[in-house]
Amino acid sequence: MNSISSNIYRSHHCGQLSISDAGTAVILSGWVQTVRKFGSITFIDLRDRYGITQLLFNETLTTRLDTAKVGREYVIKVKGIVRERSNKNPKIATGDIEIEVSEYEVLNAAQTPPFTIEDNTDGGEELRMKYRYLDLRRNTLKNNLELRYKVNRSVRNYLDSLGFWEIETPYLIKSTPEGARDFVVPSRMNPKQFYALPQSPQTFKQLLMVSGYDRYYQIVKCFRDEDLRADRQPEFTQIDCEMAYVEQEDILQVFEGLFKHVFKAIKGIEFTDAMPRITYDYAMLYYGNDKPDIRFGMQIVSLKTPLTKQHLLTENGIYANAFKLFADAETILAIAVPNGAEYSRKQTDELTEWIKRPQIGMTGLIFIKYNADGSLKSSIDKFYNEEQLKAIATVCKANPGDILLILAGKEDKTRKAMSELRLEMGARLGYRNPNDYKPLWVIDFPLFEYDAESDSYMAKHHPFTAPKPEQLHLLNDRSQYDSIKANAYDLVLNGTEIGGGSIRIFQRNIQEQMFAALGLSAEEAQEKFGFLLGAFEYGAPPHGGIAFGFDRLCALMGGQETIRDFIAFPKNNAGRDMMLDAPSAIDEAQLKEISIKLAE
Ligand code: ASP
Repeated sequence: MNSISSNIYRSHHCGQLSISDAGTAVILSGWVQTVRKFGSITFIDLRDRYGITQLLFNETLTTRLDTAKVGREYVIKVKGIVRERSNKNPKIATGDIEIEVSEYEVLNAAQTPPFTIEDNTDGGEELRMKYRYLDLRRNTLKNNLELRYKVNRSVRNYLDSLGFWEIETPYLIKSTPEGARDFVVPSRMNPKQFYALPQSPQTFKQLLMVSGYDRYYQIVKCFRDEDLRADRQPEFTQIDCEMAYVEQEDILQVFEGLFKHVFKAIKGIEFTDAMPRITYDYAMLYYGNDKPDIRFGMQIVSLKTPLTKQHLLTENGIYANAFKLFADAETILAIAVPNGAEYSRKQTDELTEWIKRPQIGMTGLIFIKYNADGSLKSSIDKFYNEEQLKAIATVCKANPGDILLILAGKEDKTRKAMSELRLEMGARLGYRNPNDYKPLWVIDFPLFEYDAESDSYMAKHHPFTAPKPEQLHLLNDRSQYDSIKANAYDLVLNGTEIGGGSIRIFQRNIQEQMFAALGLSAEEAQEKFGFLLGAFEYGAPPHGGIAFGFDRLCALMGGQETIRDFIAFPKNNAGRDMMLDAPSAIDEAQLKEISIKLAE
């Protein structure tokens, strides 16, 4: 915005005036950023959301300032004339001018802020969260919130242009399990009963499809009571969408379009090619996780794995049971790291320590250096001759100069560790530039996930996701559950899942079979989801949808990692609002009203 309406407080904002305004009488209001006294005159930098304007206080006014001090963060109003500055500052928009102040008024005094309100502040994060309203005055957060607002508006523009309606759904609902715990709210009017806060509007958007609102969206708060792993928030925002009479392809097209529209509008980045699509199985095999970072290659090579039934080491005549670790391992995985052949002993030792950290938990790392001169050297020289090492390097498509990093062990653990190692090496090699955006679709997710501990199957996405039509009959055969795939998809950006959705079940009998497969009795299904099952009997159309993590999308677009910095009033890592000091105890009378007695 370039102008504001003129009133008693201001004729212009602090980012607006330039040399073309020289000579104009203006009124400005804002916060005092700095006060600099030079002999008999004083400069004050006045700040508002739009920028900073330098104020010049003459001798008389400076004398007044001496007795009635004006300090940092005071809110003041000044009248004066715009003048060309002698000492220009090309770094700021108003750097050519200053205001020669004729009158000033303190609108409100301020205590010295607990940290400096500058780009490089001296305040720690907890302190800044306690005084969030001050932290929000800093450029970093201000720019982030501006970006968030712009992304929000651009999402709305796009969806509006395609005929989507934004429809609000309730926050006080009945539990809709989506894999996390619910936050619950006691009901005063219905003693001993509770509402749950929605983990997402999933069932409501499906009901809206039943009602005929075939293009729905909502930029909406979701609530999940999870252990807060790094950078999660108990309440977060989704761009939640649903469409009726569609197949997976329609949804991928519309929302690939949304992604491209937003990136073009906000960042000026044009994605002309169709987004790559890979299957879940492919992602797991070559990247070791379902949200691959494809800004770089370094794909994982399976030297021996039950997943692919490949036994490359054997097939190539290399695997002679020579090395016990390899002979015993369920899986052997490798990556070829460019220029790694030059790593010193110290560097390889450090990598070995890295892989042994409790978070990764592997017992060791094997190296094969493929030297630039074509020779090979490894930590398993005792077991393999150079020709055999060369054969392994060939399987791994390694180039001279690379180092092969090899992990062996149990399938799940080893693949996960290799996935982490690949990301770590990608970061070390500078391949993970936050301004290099590489989106892709991951499709064909499994319908179920097996939980060995409880010997039960859970929904991989959520219980409303439909199996692929051609595999529908397998719902009756538990032995086949591992092989059932869904038309479920994730939009992945730079190693982060930014959106996920699926084609839904829309017939009562199939939804009932699904609930049964997930271990719900018919009574439980009726009790929890009777409303949805009922709705499916009154003309439910085929439908599907997707939801994007809005906070995360904004953080990625801002080239930053923490979503907290893109939320005006976030919680800390322990789920606390440091400013409100919430959650907090409530008094007896309030508890009584809602029929709650606290356990000792
Ligand atoms: N409700 C789902 C989620 O929050 C998204 C979807 O399936 O549309 O992940």
